[in-house]
Amino acid sequence: MPKKTAEKPKLLPKDYKSHVKPTWCPGCGDYGVLASLYGAMAQLELDPARTVVVSGIGCSSRLPFFVKTYGFQTAHGRVLPVAMGVKIANPDLTVIAVGGDGDGFSIGGNHLAHAVRRNPDITYVVMDNEIYGLTKGQTSPTSPVGMKTKSTPYGSSDAPINPMAWVLASGVSFAARGFSGNPKQVTDLIMQGIQHPGFAFVQTMSPCPTFYNTFDLWRPRVEDLPEGYDPSDRTQAMAQAFRNDAIPLGVFYREVRPTLDSHTRVTNHPFKQGAYDFDVHSLLEIYR
Ligand code: SF4
Ligand code: MG
Repeated sequence: MPKKTAEKPKLLPKDYKSHVKPTWCPGCGDYGVLASLYGAMAQLELDPARTVVVSGIGCSSRLPFFVKTYGFQTAHGRVLPVAMGVKIANPDLTVIAVGGDGDGFSIGGNHLAHAVRRNPDITYVVMDNEIYGLTKGQTSPTSPVGMKTKSTPYGSSDAPINPMAWVLASGVSFAARGFSGNPKQVTDLIMQGIQHPGFAFVQTMSPCPTFYNTFDLWRPRVEDLPEGYDPSDRTQAMAQAFRNDAIPLGVFYREVRPTLDSHTRVTNHPFKQGAYDFDVHSLLEIYR
């Protein structure tokens, strides 16, 4: 009788939960994004030992603590340089960067444009709540004009940045938007982002019920991108990014082009013949 080979047990979303319970406020939109990330990891059967989740600082940047993979909470706004470094050092790892709108679009803003154009094969999930939650409710780079907060008692006069238009203009190779009130779609978008060979930007509209509860404001405004929409057309994607009659959801843009880590996959390191490794000289050339 042929010997039965033991099948590897399939990982479930709960298998990616760490022993640390999420410390977000009740009802925080980030719970939905975390559940979606667990789901995406399970569906893709990611090996927790070969997956790294990197974050910056902020409420949403606590996320790596709650995931049973390798994790790294960096300094404020520095999620992308560290995530890129992890990917360059070991291109075989799945690298997922996470954070909020303050972390990613304010202090980390310059890193965003340059990570996007370098196109490392990492996925960046931003939980955008249009407010600084961790520091108790100040305006963020995506807060609307007129918004009254502790930092803007007479209403904000600053125009909000448009993250989707920003990454499209910087040459992003994959850009999508979801709403944490629809975690099934967010799961699908994160999965597509991880499978995309290149920098995948996944903006999730993720309300902060404690300091700026936008669930009721956003729910009637979110809708899927129009039928027949072509995600290979950057101009069309830009037009969708600037819509103000609705908050379109789905994959805005997708193209396949060379990635940063493919440039650094050199195999001539004297100690690691045949293995993927990076050569510090080629790395310096890229950053020169
Ligand atoms: Fe979530 Fe806002 Fe609470 Fe932070 S302050 S955990 S963003 S609800
Ligand atoms: Mg925020």
